[in-house]
Amino acid sequence: MTDVNYIPSKQGARHNPARTMIELPAEHLERLSSWGGVASGMSYVFRPSTPDSLHEVLLLARRSGRTVGLRGGGNSYGDAATNNENIVVDLRRMKRILDWNPATGRIRVEPGVTLSDLWQYIIEDGWWPPVATGTSYTTMGGSAAMNVHGKNAFKAGPIGDHIIEFDLMLTSGETITCSREENSDVFHAAIGGFGMLGIFTSITMQMKRIYSGLLEVETCTRADLSEMFGYFNQHASESDYIVGWIDSLAGGKSIGRGDVHRANYLAPGMDPHPAQTLRTENQHLGPNLFGVLPRSVMWLLMRPMVRNAGMKVVNKGKYLAGSFSGVKKYQQPHVQFHFLLDYIPDWKKAYEPGGLIQYQPFIPKETAYDAFSEILSLCRRRGLPNYLTVLKRHRPDDFLMSYAVDGFSMAMDFRVTDENRQRVVWLARELDDIVIGAGGRFYFAKDSTLRPETAEAFLGEERITRFRELKRRCDPDGILETDLWRRVFG
Ligand SMILES: Cc1cc2nc3c(=O)[nH]c(=O)nc-3n(C[C@H](O)[C@H](O)[C@H](O)COP(=O)(O)OP(=O)(O)OC[C@H]3O[C@@H](n4cnc5c(N)ncnc54)[C@H](O)[C@@H]3O)c2cc1C
Repeated sequence: MTDVNYIPSKQGARHNPARTMIELPAEHLERLSSWGGVASGMSYVFRPSTPDSLHEVLLLARRSGRTVGLRGGGNSYGDAATNNENIVVDLRRMKRILDWNPATGRIRVEPGVTLSDLWQYIIEDGWWPPVATGTSYTTMGGSAAMNVHGKNAFKAGPIGDHIIEFDLMLTSGETITCSREENSDVFHAAIGGFGMLGIFTSITMQMKRIYSGLLEVETCTRADLSEMFGYFNQHASESDYIVGWIDSLAGGKSIGRGDVHRANYLAPGMDPHPAQTLRTENQHLGPNLFGVLPRSVMWLLMRPMVRNAGMKVVNKGKYLAGSFSGVKKYQQPHVQFHFLLDYIPDWKKAYEPGGLIQYQPFIPKETAYDAFSEILSLCRRRGLPNYLTVLKRHRPDDFLMSYAVDGFSMAMDFRVTDENRQRVVWLARELDDIVIGAGGRFYFAKDSTLRPETAEAFLGEERITRFRELKRRCDPDGILETDLWRRVFG
């Protein structure tokens, strides 16, 4: 195979350099990186706090000939929220709750409201976000733009299925309201449209009613991938959430073994003290792990383990401990169940200096077992096992750039070093072939390696053409761009 550039990141301004009239202020230059830390670059960063100041940045972009990339919490693993040598609008200061109805659970928020802000605002009224990602640092704007999913994707679908309407600022400065009835084509394309059609300035969503701050959780181990799939198939209809954690360093007959966690909401009356369990302070993760170890230093302890030999020991230990305890049933606060990855703040630092990428294919249920078995074996054969592997069940949705299937996804974290960088890219190419061959799809929030031809293979030419037409309508001068857009669609 020939050498390839890993995440091409220096592609320069494309908006219209010939039109450059003013220089942007150098004090806005900042280094931004992908969440996984594998790619970084300099951008002019602006942090507007109102729609008017946001519009001013768009005008500045026109006057400077630079493109504009949008950024929420910067939690996309790859280059979806970076825009090297151009403008980046960080929307986290637009974070007001604009309207909340505790009787109906309908909420209207600005795009910079994080999932953490959201659950803390609504929980004591007996509501919970209908879709929760594995970290609570994501913003609602970034979540809508990627159409994120949670551990209940098979039942609740992605966040877009719970969005009632949104206001979208176009690059002209005009704001349009979109819903399933009004501007429906833009509604179905801007959700999951990775910030390429316009800027969400407000989002109205329906929250999920809950009757307790606790979930009924069941955990157990599964001896191989076939048992893992069997568990999902057997329990999906009677569960609100299911997630599988695979030990991807186990081979042979144990390939695909791991733990499964499933959870259900408590029905009305099951919790004798809902007013207490729904209090925010009874949800929070404490500052210490096991009561003694400060969570803030955990990433340092993880650091020596983040390599093949270390992860083999950790995964095996976790699996054996799980098998020994058998099926465990307990009640757990929502926050502790959902945001496991926030337990260890800054855990990605354990992967420094090279960083990590995630690869998350979505494969139809008919072909998923064979494809995931092949993927896990291939990673082992190439000496590049992934260190965190998460299995989820999904259902299809009706968004234009959808990644969803009636099937499964497997998210895999790969450590990147100077030594293995090229091999990781080659491996991703081989995995792409397996995924496309199995009728699978990809998710731009997690992507770092996709090529234009692979995107076309899973999205199809017709969808991409429709998306480009909408982009021309909403952003005729091509002002909105990111490094991801240039890499995959540029
Ligand atoms: C530890 C971890 C766990 C995760 N778990 C999950 C998971 O369980 N499920 C899942 O689906 N994802 C998951 N993700 C991915 C994450 O949810 C998505 O990448 C999400 O989009 C990040 O939100 P953000 O606010 O950080 O957005 P960013 O990463 O900053 O931006 C995401 C995209 O949104 C665009 N954008 C941002 N704001 C706006 C706006 N106001 N208007 C229009 N476009 C905008 C950006 O241009 C970019 O393309 C996880 C990520 C991490 C780091």
